[in-house]
Formats: sequence, structure tokens, C-alpha cells
Amino acid sequence: MRLSKGQTSWMALKIDLEKAFDKLRWDFISSALSDAGFPPGLHRSWEALLSNLAWTLGNGESVNFFSDIWVPALGPLSDYSQILASTMSQISFASVLNEHGEWDVAKLSEVFTVNAVPYILGIKPPDTQSGPDMCVWRWTDHHDFVLKSAYYKCSQPILEMSDPLWKHIWSLQVPQRIHCFLWITCRQKLMTNLEHCKRQLTDDPHCPLCHREVESILHTLRDCVYLRQYWRRIVPQALLNTFFSSSVQGWFCLNIDGAVSLNSDKATIGGLLRDNAGNFVFGYSKFIGCVNSLHAELWSLYIGLQLAWDYGIDYLQVQTDCKQILQLLSASNVESSPISLVRSIRKFWHRAWFINLTWTPRFGNIASDKLARLANCSSFELSFFSLPPLVLGDILSSDALVVTL
Ligand SMILES: [Zn+2]
Repeated sequence: MRLSKGQTSWMALKIDLEKAFDKLRWDFISSALSDAGFPPGLHRSWEALLSNLAWTLGNGESVNFFSDIWVPALGPLSDYSQILASTMSQISFASVLNEHGEWDVAKLSEVFTVNAVPYILGIKPPDTQSGPDMCVWRWTDHHDFVLKSAYYKCSQPILEMSDPLWKHIWSLQVPQRIHCFLWITCRQKLMTNLEHCKRQLTDDPHCPLCHREVESILHTLRDCVYLRQYWRRIVPQALLNTFFSSSVQGWFCLNIDGAVSLNSDKATIGGLLRDNAGNFVFGYSKFIGCVNSLHAELWSLYIGLQLAWDYGIDYLQVQTDCKQILQLLSASNVESSPISLVRSIRKFWHRAWFINLTWTPRFGNIASDKLARLANCSSFELSFFSLPPLVLGDILSSDALVVTL
């Protein structure tokens, strides 16, 4: 750049903050703004901006372990270190993870104060599969800036329209009311007696025609004895067996829940897997650390999916009473969600199984809530139940009404 005598020259730098966040000297930006005569309020706002940003961990490569904010509830971890400043440079993500890539609780306890450790444990550790770290808004559960969150909420119906299932239904050459009926059915929203029972509009979930079975959606549309005769006239003889049997056999239902103490941020999770007859397959509970309720629910889903996958499930229905999870996982940008747990959870959808995520009212999710409250907050070990613990009592049979497909 050519300088004219007696003049101060400037050049403009266009900065992509997301990419340059860890490569810029922010004090340089601040002093440059000051020298250029920008109002003091503006250049001071850089510092304010930095304190409002945080990292969600991907591979951990862009994040400074002590000076960057990657535990939003705490801020820079240098404030919670109990080791000498001269030895901080020896600590990195790799040095506080065990051979399985999980947090090494003993090592963290050596480095940080006792109140900070649970908050760190609530963060998903970095791993090489999770892509780059992301710079995000610090103060919302979603890590979205508030205005963007509002926009997202307004645009939900549009995002929903991009769902492949909806596109398929829309492409069918049928009257509009059939489109609506199919969509309601596929969303598990058809008002059967089972659904009425869930909403406490009736206490009898049975079919009003045959009085033999619970009136689930599948029973209403196919399995009721009064309907079978009509299907036999329509479905080719060679396909009848397949038609009547290729149902929900093989489906399992995973209920998840998280609980956060009102007095502290200590969060526990619980979940249980049942077969399509409502039989208990396994349950789990775990103390997660200190996180907000959304992240507790996400942890419960993440661990539940891992356990279900290890169990060898092919068809899995997941039920949660947290609508935020449904919104996050159905968003068009889910693959690049600012929440690393969401990105990791979404990866389960790419595996060789079928997952259907649905919302259930709280009273249909009591068993997993009980399991979450069963977790021992003095240990980070996962409790796995191959038999239903006593605390579930009669809850399993009442919840089973709600999980019947
Ligand atoms: Zn019936």
C-alpha cells in the first residue's frame, strides 16, 4: 500500500469471524478500531462480543483448552485451574481423555476445582469424527442468537415441508383431504382411542368395534377383525401374509428423559427399551454432570441410541417428551447444528437401521423419568438394568399403553 506523506492510510479487512475466530489477536482489532477513531463503545464491544461466544467441540483442534470458552456455563477454564500457570501448557484435550476417548475424571479432578469438573463432564468430549469445532452464541441452549431462534421458530412449517415423507405424500394424485389424512397418520397424530387415552379424554383405549384390542393407529387402519375382510378383497392373495405380518414386529421403543436438579445444575438421565408388546428389554441411568435440561435430554438420547445399536435393534421408535429435541433433529441444518451432541446423534440416522423419533406426553414417559432420578450423583458410571428395577413398579404397564404401536 502506498503511503502519502503526512497522511494515515488504512486498509479494509473483511473477516469471516467463524473461520478467523482463533487466528486473530482481538486486542489488535480493538486498538485498531480505537486508532481509527471509531467510538470507544464500538471497539470495547469486541471484548463483550468475545465473552458472549463459545465453542462447541468437534475435533478440538481450534480450541485453546484454558483460554477459550467451551464450557458455556463456566467461561475460560483458566479461572478454575488449580495447577501452576507454568504447567498449564502441558494440559490439552488429549491429556484429560482416557483410551476410550472419554473424560478422565481423575485427571480432570487434579487440574480443576471440584465445582468445575461436573460442568466439563457435561460436555461431549472432542473426537476426530465430529468435524471442526464451531464458534457459537453462548447464552442460549440452542447456541443460536435469539433473533435467529425466532426466525427458526417462524419457519418451522416451511422446514417441515422439506421432509421427504411429506414430499412423497404431497406427490400422490389424491384429494387434498387424503393428503392431510396420510400426513396426520404418518405423524402418529390420528385420534384413536389410544391417543384419547393418552390425553386423558377417556379411560378405555380399546377398539369400539371389536372391543378386543387397544385401538392403535395400526389396529384402526388394518388389524381390526372388521377391517381385515376388506383388505383381503384388495390385497393380492400372494401378498396377504406379508401385508398382515410386516408390521411393527421387530420394532422396539426407546423412551428417554433427563432431570436437572433445581438447586444445582446436576443432571441425570434415564431411559428404557421395550419391545412392541411393551415388555421391558433394558433400562439405564447415569449422572451426566452439570448441564441444562436440553443437554440432559440429548445425552439420554445419545446414550440410549448407543445401547440400542449395540443391542442389535433394526427398527427403533424413540419417544421423548422434549419438543426441542424434535425441532433440533428435524431442522434442515441438523448436520451442521451448533450443538455437537445433535450432530453426533444425527449420525445414528445414517446407520443401517430405521429410527423414528416422536413426542410423547410426560405421563407416557414416567418410567424413563423414574430411571433418571435413580442415578447416583456420586458416580459417573452408567447403571444398566437388564431387569426392571423395583422403582418402576406398575409404571411399566401404564406406560406400555402409550408405547403400543
Ligand atoms: Zn377393533
